[in-house]
Amino acid sequence: ENRESLNFIEQMIEEDLESGKNSMVQTRFPPEPNGYLHIGHAKSIVLNFGLAEKYNGKCNLRFDDTNPAKESTEYVDAIIEDIKWLGYEYGDEPLFTSDYFETLYQYALKLIQKGKAYIDDQSAEEISAGKTNPSTPGIPSPFRTRSIEENLALFEEMKSGNCEEGSRVLRAKIDMDSPNMHMRDPIIYRIKKVDHHRTGDKWCIYPNYDFAHGQSDSIEHVTYSLCTLEFRDHKPLYDWFIKELEIFPSEQTEFARLNLGYTIVSKRKLLQLVEEGKVTGWDDPRMPTISGLRRRGYTPNSIKNFAHKIGVARRDGITDIALLEHSIREDLNKTANRVFGILDPLKVVITNWPEDKVEMMPAVNNPGDETAGTREMPLTREIYIEQGDFLENPPSPKKWYRLGPDREVRLKYGYIVKCVDFVKDADGNITELHCEYDPETRSGHDTSGKKVKGTLGWVSADHAVSAEIRQYDRLFKTENLNTIEDDFLNHLNPDSLTVNKSVLLEPSLASAQVGDQFQFERQGYFIVDGDTTEGNLVFNRTVTLRDNWKK
Ligand code: ATP
Ligand code: MG
Ligand code: MG
Repeated sequence: ENRESLNFIEQMIEEDLESGKNSMVQTRFPPEPNGYLHIGHAKSIVLNFGLAEKYNGKCNLRFDDTNPAKESTEYVDAIIEDIKWLGYEYGDEPLFTSDYFETLYQYALKLIQKGKAYIDDQSAEEISAGKTNPSTPGIPSPFRTRSIEENLALFEEMKSGNCEEGSRVLRAKIDMDSPNMHMRDPIIYRIKKVDHHRTGDKWCIYPNYDFAHGQSDSIEHVTYSLCTLEFRDHKPLYDWFIKELEIFPSEQTEFARLNLGYTIVSKRKLLQLVEEGKVTGWDDPRMPTISGLRRRGYTPNSIKNFAHKIGVARRDGITDIALLEHSIREDLNKTANRVFGILDPLKVVITNWPEDKVEMMPAVNNPGDETAGTREMPLTREIYIEQGDFLENPPSPKKWYRLGPDREVRLKYGYIVKCVDFVKDADGNITELHCEYDPETRSGHDTSGKKVKGTLGWVSADHAVSAEIRQYDRLFKTENLNTIEDDFLNHLNPDSLTVNKSVLLEPSLASAQVGDQFQFERQGYFIVDGDTTEGNLVFNRTVTLRDNWKK
């Protein structure tokens, strides 16, 4: 492979492997189990697991579970399910930062013993005020000069539960004048008398992110610790801990996070949508969560292809949602069987068709895949077509290929029919068409020599299966949600869900199972939803057929 075509992380890895700086690619994906994974996480998953695959390395799944108040096993289980569904392997067991609590505690002791950490009795406000701002020297804590012995004793006190929450913290002793605020004696341990979802009440002091993340990377011998750009300013601290603790030198590299048009990628805000009932749950098909996308009909392939197409950059940008939609169309176009589904049915009586006659018409399941075979569609005297396929006063035949008075079209896989009459109700709505079919025009056996441009979908009235369809639009009506100044909830699209309960499907769909995916010809891609019950078939519209992605 040409090195130019590699992204900047791959280039770095290949240089390191060549120079011998690293002999192995060890990455990790480190979610905090405080919510479900979203499409932004998918980018990081594909990157981390993808690099391990490409360079014969390993990627760990490590739960970054240092904040017990917000974490739960429900989230752990959901994250594991999503990663497996995407098709990635992370070894026998997932790893947990909480498994390193004892080691991290020992690391803290080591820093104290080196005179590089101290117990601060100031309040959170005082500590924050003492840090001042990047252009003003910080104000050292009056507790900064405590002796090593006193610090060890007080840290033991904190650990044994004898101190009130918020009464003291452990801070690294670095540089109160650093222009990088993260280096101004950051807090590394705090008291939290909260049960942890894995360690229960064993600990009442917890390391914070900066004191847990890099050290966990180091414990696992992670060679490439990839994180999003917000952590760039944390890197000097990441390196400082590794140097002072004299542990395996993991290295952090930052890449641009995924921002997606019309989409929120923040677990905190997604949780708010769930808690306030703006959506039906984390797996609502409008949610950008992996579980929501799965239920909506997105496939692992489509998500991976999307991640590969956006690539990795060093600068933040916003990705066009049309690319995500393009990725699922591209995948389903190859794999989904075509069927007929009539979303807005208009009855058609074929007046010269015998009352009880049922003729089976072979229909192609997937024009792009011969192995998908054919099925038989029953054609009968009464059928349904789309309301939108008939106009009482259509424009000239050159501009309107579908039905109108005295116009002819082909019923796909059927016959050519001509509209000879129509029925209107009191409000002027068209309620029924009368057509005549031409027996010489059976699809594949047409001896009439007739040419028609329009081909319509249809279902037999006697055999159709009724269904409910949930059509989704964007959850938000604003494209760039990063730049809004008001509450993001103000930007919700009130029309993000439309339920259509009067859908008629071809009879082959009677046996469709939850998770089955189809292209309804001319309509879009649909998946059978888990809300389906005996007698009530529910579909989600994954995406329409119209592709707005401009390459
Ligand atoms: P959120 O703000 O949604 O909670 P997070 O970064 O706090 O996201 P974590 O569970 O800590 O969530 O993230 C796990 C990994 O996923 C991290 O390495 C993080 O950098 C990455 N990640 C999270 N969001 C994105 C995103 N939008 N684009 C790329 N990577 C992301
Ligand atoms: Mg986080
Ligand atoms: Mg976050």
